[in-house]
Amino acid sequence: MISIEEAQGIILSAVSPLTTEEVPLHAAFGRVVAEDLNAPWDIPMADYSAMDGYTFAVTSGLDLKIDGFLPAGATRSTPVPPGSAVKIMTGAVIPPGCDTVIPVEETEVHGDRLLINSEVREGLHIRLRGEDVMKGDLVIPAGTLLRPAEIGMLASLGRTAVQVVRRPKAAVLSTGDELIEAGMAPVPGQVVNSNSYSISAHLLDSGAVPLPLGIARDDREVTLGKLKEGLAADLLITTGGVSVGDRDLVKELLIELGGEIRFWQVSMKPGKPVAFAMVRGTPVFALPGNPVAAMVSFEQFVRPAILKMSGHTRLFRPIVKAVLREAVTNPGKRPHLVRGTVELSGGRYHVVSTGNQSSGRISSLTRSNGLMVLPPDASLAAGDDVDVQLLDRSFEMGPRTP
Ligand code: AMP
Ligand code: MG
Repeated sequence: MISIEEAQGIILSAVSPLTTEEVPLHAAFGRVVAEDLNAPWDIPMADYSAMDGYTFAVTSGLDLKIDGFLPAGATRSTPVPPGSAVKIMTGAVIPPGCDTVIPVEETEVHGDRLLINSEVREGLHIRLRGEDVMKGDLVIPAGTLLRPAEIGMLASLGRTAVQVVRRPKAAVLSTGDELIEAGMAPVPGQVVNSNSYSISAHLLDSGAVPLPLGIARDDREVTLGKLKEGLAADLLITTGGVSVGDRDLVKELLIELGGEIRFWQVSMKPGKPVAFAMVRGTPVFALPGNPVAAMVSFEQFVRPAILKMSGHTRLFRPIVKAVLREAVTNPGKRPHLVRGTVELSGGRYHVVSTGNQSSGRISSLTRSNGLMVLPPDASLAAGDDVDVQLLDRSFEMGPRTP
């Protein structure tokens, strides 16, 4: 049985970034840019005043004649004569003959005379042409994640559309004779297909586009048909039917479709019965049916692959040290990923398990925002440090408002 890291290595060497597409700038947030973006002009475009105040030449002294007004956006071509100052607002272009700006708070006005109460220096409170970005600069290299700051920069560079890596389309297929669709009330023997919803939500969270294919009964022809449909997507995720049960058909059907199973079974708990295959060029993740195992293995295997396919270069959740609030042990032979609640307090992470770790309990995940990584034979006491994989940032969203 291979380790989590070996399995991740196999997956990441099998997938590559997708092709690119042009999107409007307002839809580019969170995408990865696929082109080098150079500046077509200087930012700022000219020397601008950075304050509301007066502009003049430092050699003019501290007692000046007020000669005109420049609001934001205004320019003036006639030089300002020595001994004169122009009232200027933030964002107006510094006129010829001037080399400094004094904020209005540091001046006194008497009729048309301006008295300056503080020291002046050449270049003070002036934003120089090109001091932010120079024409021709490589401002945003290909591979950059577009956050609000990059989106604003792109707008400043005159862009209203940008070339980005395509979002992966991910087909999601749930297998199992016992499954019924959400919205129906189960009778004994039936289980609601929750995986389709949780995996689709995980896909959205990873930046992919979910294509739910519904439920396939544990029947060769039905499952084969659905798998074929899923292979048209950029990747296919199945849940269930990949263990050692009599009706666990997924692996053999993937092989029948020409697929190559790159691994099956990973040394981890929960999530051991997981397979990865390349079928006709499409990566297929056969996740366990168990809802908790499906989500935990999604985090370890599918999310990094989706991030790589989307052009990202940071593929893994951060693993931090956290102080244990209770004793935990792993008597097993596989690494145990224990669902935990992580909090940031006093500048340190603290973690407590969400209780009973039976992999059937979805409720053990709903209160969890991190996975403690417990190696085999680990035995840790309250107060010890433990490695925790952070699954989201909910612990640092600040105090709750009552
Ligand atoms: P399997 O891996 O097919 O043996 O399924 C393992 C367990 O997970 C069984 O108890 C199933 O009922 C449950 N399960 C399988 N698929 C789903 C699903 N789509 N939603 C909720 N539970 C499921
Ligand atoms: Mg099943």
